[in-house]
Amino acid sequence: MTDPEPTDAQAEAARGHIALWLDPEDARWLARHCCCPDDAAEETHDRCLRLRFRASVALHRSGLHG
Ligand SMILES: [Zn+2]
Repeated sequence: MTDPEPTDAQAEAARGHIALWLDPEDARWLARHCCCPDDAAEETHDRCLRLRFRASVALHRSGLHG
């Protein structure tokens, strides 16, 4: 993974994003944990992937490297 740009709080807010503060251990768990059932809808898998990706980016930005 390449170094992500620093978070621009205003740009994130403009996209409708909200801030979510997590303990590093919780973010690490989230980044690695998939509990989608085998028959989960594609939308569910996409959401799970997105959440886990964002958790790992947050760790990376914090210098904690998932
Ligand atoms: Zn999942």
